[in-house]
Amino acid sequence: MTSTTPAAPATPAFPTGSVLGYPRIGPRRELKKALEAFWAGRTAADEVEAVAADLRRRTRARLAELGLATDAPAIPSAFSFYDHVLDTAALVGAVPARFADLQDADGRLDLAGYSTVARGRGDDLPLEMTKWFDTNYHYLVPEIGPGTAFRYASDRPVAEFAEALADGVLTRPVVVGPVTFLALAKPTEDAPAGFHPLDRLDDLLPVYARLLTELAAAGATWVQLDEPALVSDSIGVDAAVLAEATTRAYRALATELARPERPAILVAAPYGDLGAALPVLAATDVEGLAIDLVRGDAPTVAVPGLAGKTLVGGVVDGHNIWRADLDARLTVLEQLAGLGAAAVAVGTSTSLFHVPHTLDDEPALDRTLVQWLAFADEKVREVATLATGLTEGREAVRTELLAASDAVRSRATAPGVVRPEVRERAAALTDDQFRRGPFAARKAAQAERLRLPALPTTTIGSFPQTPEIRKARAAFGKGELSAAAYEDEMKAEIRRVVELQERIGLDVLVHGEPERNDMVQYFAENLDGFAVTQNGWVQSYGSRCTRPSILWGDVSRPAPITVAWTTYTQSLTDKPVKGMLTGPVTILAWSFVRDDQPLGDTANQVALALRDEIADLEAAGIGIVQVDEPALRELLPLREKDHAAYLDWSVRSFRLSTAGVRPDTQIHTHLCYSEFGEIMDAIDGLDADVTSIEAARSKMEILGDIAAAGYPRAVGPGVYDIHSPRVPSQAEVTELLTEAVRTIDVDQLWVNPDCGLKTRRYEEVTPSLEHLVEATRTVRATL
Ligand code: GLN
Ligand code: ZN
Repeated sequence: MTSTTPAAPATPAFPTGSVLGYPRIGPRRELKKALEAFWAGRTAADEVEAVAADLRRRTRARLAELGLATDAPAIPSAFSFYDHVLDTAALVGAVPARFADLQDADGRLDLAGYSTVARGRGDDLPLEMTKWFDTNYHYLVPEIGPGTAFRYASDRPVAEFAEALADGVLTRPVVVGPVTFLALAKPTEDAPAGFHPLDRLDDLLPVYARLLTELAAAGATWVQLDEPALVSDSIGVDAAVLAEATTRAYRALATELARPERPAILVAAPYGDLGAALPVLAATDVEGLAIDLVRGDAPTVAVPGLAGKTLVGGVVDGHNIWRADLDARLTVLEQLAGLGAAAVAVGTSTSLFHVPHTLDDEPALDRTLVQWLAFADEKVREVATLATGLTEGREAVRTELLAASDAVRSRATAPGVVRPEVRERAAALTDDQFRRGPFAARKAAQAERLRLPALPTTTIGSFPQTPEIRKARAAFGKGELSAAAYEDEMKAEIRRVVELQERIGLDVLVHGEPERNDMVQYFAENLDGFAVTQNGWVQSYGSRCTRPSILWGDVSRPAPITVAWTTYTQSLTDKPVKGMLTGPVTILAWSFVRDDQPLGDTANQVALALRDEIADLEAAGIGIVQVDEPALRELLPLREKDHAAYLDWSVRSFRLSTAGVRPDTQIHTHLCYSEFGEIMDAIDGLDADVTSIEAARSKMEILGDIAAAGYPRAVGPGVYDIHSPRVPSQAEVTELLTEAVRTIDVDQLWVNPDCGLKTRRYEEVTPSLEHLVEATRTVRATL
């Protein structure tokens, strides 16, 4: 092909098949282990670097073996030691003032400094953590103020690109785009009212420009800038503001900075439909756009500006584990060809870091189920197949297309996927099964029954999962420990946890959840319709991973699950013991859920199983049951137009699970985030008697919203941030509580940590809870 405009060099080749990102924690969680050893002081930073370099090398080799090109930038260079948003903050020198001493003269953080910004130190709180779009991944929220000094402060993206190139692989560096980076940031505390980090866009862009020129100099042909902020109405920035920022950002990076000074730019928009932001992006001079065609629909008419651009169709779901119907996906890709783009390529809808590495690592998983599934590696193969189909035609991949269609068909009719008795019960539900009596009467009946002091203290449920507990569970799982011996060990642990809570002086006790590997998997293992994996780890935040269960069939409860543990705990103490369950929405959110029926139908099946469990707890004399819904906010659709339908089914499923109880049974729920205001109506709709929420890091900000909304029921704003190893002082908790009592009716207040304690150590938990109880006593004395 000859170019008629010699001034504009031809766009470098873009591969027909690529993925937006890949798991970075390692198939055996190698990175987690290396990091945690480093943090514990057992190893040096060099060793973590070596593990990370080895992981990156193995990832490149694996992706090449699965069919991605190595001479065109199909393989993303998208590693992170902890979090890609933190990486971007480190890249642009945006380190909060309290950590400025960790930067060297050039603004760089070493691995220890980077870890400290993520995890906090002493009284210096870490960056706040929050959910990444509608996923169960959490990112660190950058703090940007008028004085933040942006500078090019990390050569990691360039070094990792060069490392791959030296290894013979031309990768595509992936960085969070400037608009999303600032849109997701929060203002520093000293920022004037009305300031938004996006106000600093013009100051930030030169750093991105520098990065792009450095990458080009190192030989990068394409770079991927992720701009998921553009698919969301839910980040608190007006669409018009985002559109203007997008235009300005990419004018600076793509127009004013011309190739070959920079690599070709692929802007990726995962997690949803770009909607009106698509023409905005198309009008920029970036060379490529990656759009999500799992959540979003392919545009049906040509989009001005697409001519000359590469359009990457994200047709393979990066966010769920079902095998794709390749034939249908290929049809979508063929439609894209009609939109006027210079080239169409195959991609994933999102990075693959939301799914486990590979099914090859799951020998124990049911073989029928396995043929319906695709984890990251299998998705890469799907991408490679579709790429072949796109370039060589359907015939070239006929066998693969047929096999995929067969799998989809066999799933629809397999035993367990549809169970008539489950369907019939759901179909017979009546409205009153979703409703409890008036709150005022419940409140009086509960006060009479429970007789709690003002500012009742409690925890969110789990206590530290000690190495001994993990060892016992693993031994039991392998059959090395008998069921009776395992039960004895768990009971001994429960006794210790009860004694500790009594000694500290908490008012409502928990059993500590020692028997639960994970709050969702535990229920999945005890309900029909679920499967669990052995190695299906997915990064949740930093070094933390979860192993989502697979909800593949109709759900029911073969037998009571928590009743024996809870009644045993109650037998040890005169204080009320709170039964502890995971709610239907969270069970769905943290599992990989069947995609062949509406989520609301699946949620109601789970809710009915939980309703039976609560009835059994109540019958066994338990007066308080907590149904955790930490993921209620997480599943909230990114587009406002979809909110009402979601909130309707999610709230209804919670109510279905809890509304069967007597007025004097107190229902608690726990929500693990601080954006309470936004879904206040839904939280009101849950109709829980007590709601605990995360609040410590945001310094109880959220209570103002709750008071302003006239929310009538009780709330327990977290006064102890359990996400960091830091022990809050008694004075600090007293201050938070004093603030709480000033903001909201003391009658409505409970005192608790932000979340469960299972990831912490007793050295941190014991003093923290002591401070919490002491602070409560201090504040009670002032009432
Ligand atoms: N009850 C659970 C626990 O304490 C709640 C955890 C959560 O909210 N993520 O571990
Ligand atoms: Zn929580």
